[in-house]
Amino acid sequence: MGNEQPKIPQATAKRLPLYYRFLKNLHASGKQRVSSAELSEAVKVDPATIRRDFSYFGALGKKGYGYNVNYLLSFFRRTLEEDEVTEVALFGVGNLGTAFLNYNFSKNNNTKIVMAFDVDERKVGTTVGGVPVYHLDELEERLHENIPVAILTVPAAAAQALTDRLVAQGIKGILNFTPARLNVPNHIRVHHIDLAIELQSLVYFLKNYPTSSEKGENHT
Ligand code: ATP
Repeated sequence: MGNEQPKIPQATAKRLPLYYRFLKNLHASGKQRVSSAELSEAVKVDPATIRRDFSYFGALGKKGYGYNVNYLLSFFRRTLEEDEVTEVALFGVGNLGTAFLNYNFSKNNNTKIVMAFDVDERKVGTTVGGVPVYHLDELEERLHENIPVAILTVPAAAAQALTDRLVAQGIKGILNFTPARLNVPNHIRVHHIDLAIELQSLVYFLKNYPTSSEKGENHT
């Protein structure tokens, strides 16, 4: 995590998402500036606290002008998105799993694969793309609630049993790259990406529904 920004007191940090949400709404409605009184009214925090909080962000309100909404928004975006990295665990360090571990997701978004699991003794104990590979037996011991998302790149036959263990462990979301259809309780979100099917479907569409460029139309 980049640390170029000054440390913000915890009490202030807790109010950040509140301010952020309100400012996003203001921005969406086209407002360019906001006074601490207006903010205070909307988020139910007294104006003196707001002024102190905002001084940590380097935003100094001007008398009769208030705060610049764009400035605040860009500050909040940077701060919140940087602080809110979602940690992910990957299961199955085969060809696909290895590719994901080597791919730097956090470059473009705020997710990070922090650990991987496999059953192959030759892989356990190694590090792939900077991510440690543990034995699947250690799932319950290693996987804690700070890791809400799992990527499955195991063989299809192993997917459901693994999913049941993840559910028991409190996982919230699963990105399933296996061909297996997973059964999970309603509160758990599964996104299924079957690469073989996607490829097949693309080829099918190319054959059966020629694209506009093939019909001699301009693509732009
Ligand atoms: P891929 O399908 O990613 O191309 P692959 O063909 O190299 O991988 P697979 O047999 O699909 O290999 O297995 C993927 C990985 O999952 C392997 O590293 C394998 O050791 C591991 N694996 C197999 N069963 C399990 C399991 N129950 N839990 C975790 N990992 C497993």
